[in-house]
Amino acid sequence: MLLVWMILVFVLGACVGSFLNVCIYRLPFDKSVLWPGSRCSHCLKSIKWYDNIPLVSYWLLGGRCRFCRTRFSIRYFFIELSTALIFVGLFYVEVIANVYGLDEALLGTNRFNVGRGAIFTFHALLVSLLLAASVCDYDHHIIPLQITVSGTIFGLIGALLFPWPWPYLPAEAEMAAGAMVVSKAAASNRAVPVACVGTIARMAGAGRKLADGIGDRFGGNACRRHFLAWCSVLFRVGNGSEIHGSASR
Ligand SMILES: [Zn+2]
Repeated sequence: MLLVWMILVFVLGACVGSFLNVCIYRLPFDKSVLWPGSRCSHCLKSIKWYDNIPLVSYWLLGGRCRFCRTRFSIRYFFIELSTALIFVGLFYVEVIANVYGLDEALLGTNRFNVGRGAIFTFHALLVSLLLAASVCDYDHHIIPLQITVSGTIFGLIGALLFPWPWPYLPAEAEMAAGAMVVSKAAASNRAVPVACVGTIARMAGAGRKLADGIGDRFGGNACRRHFLAWCSVLFRVGNGSEIHGSASR
């Protein structure tokens, strides 16, 4: 069963990596990631779904376009593979090894599983954005606003959906913290969340006053501008870099 889960997560990671490839090659040119579909940068022919299967198609076609045999960068393959491996590693650490020390007895099996799954999903989403941002930064020395603004929005939604002491109920927080401290004796790294929560709460308190001032001054303009830039991911007309021959997916 464990192996089945790992394989499923690997496949999910490869698919997400395939989408990240699209983001990495299009967002720096302000192109839509939804339209048009993937195409060859040389002959501009659409890449069919069966030629666009993450990891597999690259090797079946020898890393070349089916029609004009132009070579695609091996980087497409490595980004899909890296994302898949990162997902599997994250899944292992957060879900299988339960690195945060979630207490199954206290939570009950359902909440324990939902908690582990949600933490993994949230972190997988954020690490995907981080990977896309890193490659864009490496290529062009820019991090597209669409990535940073999406990350900010997802981060805020995550903070709203999973407020401390989630997945524990507020009444269970003390017991949960106790459980984590007790488990510290067995596995010292599991007490880290308790220490972190205290520190982060203090930092957040101090930072809030500063953030309020900065937010009042700059927030309105920045939000408007960044939100509009982010919307362009969905609605911008998707012509541009294929014509210049600089993006192939
Ligand atoms: Zn081609």
